[in-house]
Amino acid sequence: MDYPGNIFVVAAPSGAGKSSLVKALMELDSAVHPSVSHTTRPPRGQEKHGREYFFVSANEFDAMVEGDGFVEWAHVHGQRYGTSKKAIEDRVAQGSDIVLEIDFQGALQIRKTFANAVLIFILPPSWEELRSRLERRGEDSDEVIALRLKNAAHEMARAGEFDYVIINELFERALFDLKAIVHAQRLRYAAQRRLRADTFAALNIP
Ligand code: 5GP
Repeated sequence: MDYPGNIFVVAAPSGAGKSSLVKALMELDSAVHPSVSHTTRPPRGQEKHGREYFFVSANEFDAMVEGDGFVEWAHVHGQRYGTSKKAIEDRVAQGSDIVLEIDFQGALQIRKTFANAVLIFILPPSWEELRSRLERRGEDSDEVIALRLKNAAHEMARAGEFDYVIINELFERALFDLKAIVHAQRLRYAAQRRLRADTFAALNIP
């Protein structure tokens, strides 16, 4: 599918710092819009329907799957999550840049539909650091942490299928790296040609 906007897909094992990085990117760059996913998991804390997620029942999710409403969906940590066609198609057709913060299975699916999607994998600097971040978060029991670490090994083994890798050792450095990827994408020939059509015309570039 051809489209003028950029699709950035960010995946990482839980605890690698993906959400904070994506949030910081969007605060700094108002031209990057989030894609709001659907999920069957219940809202946590201050989460609002339509902002972090569209929270739906298992039946509603099934209906969307049957109605071909998703570009991708996956089982993650015992719940279902999906990116609706609506969440991204209109936006990228209008030329907006969007960022999807989804799991690695979803990321690889997205590329099948949107061949030019930019896939970014965030790695922790070490196992010790990943474990201690999960422990510090204080959200999960020991068993859940053990499961997340086991899943992390499986997920990180697929990092080679992504276009870019960011090692999140120092937050500011990782954010700089993420911004650099977004910026480089906007400097690609086709993007410049579209955005700066006047300059190209003035320079007589056909
Ligand atoms: P959480 O429940 O902590 O918000 O998210 C759990 C995991 O599901 C995270 O890795 C998150 O990136 C992933 N996720 C969120 N939305 C989607 C989606 O639309 N599709 C897929 N495949 N994964 C998602």
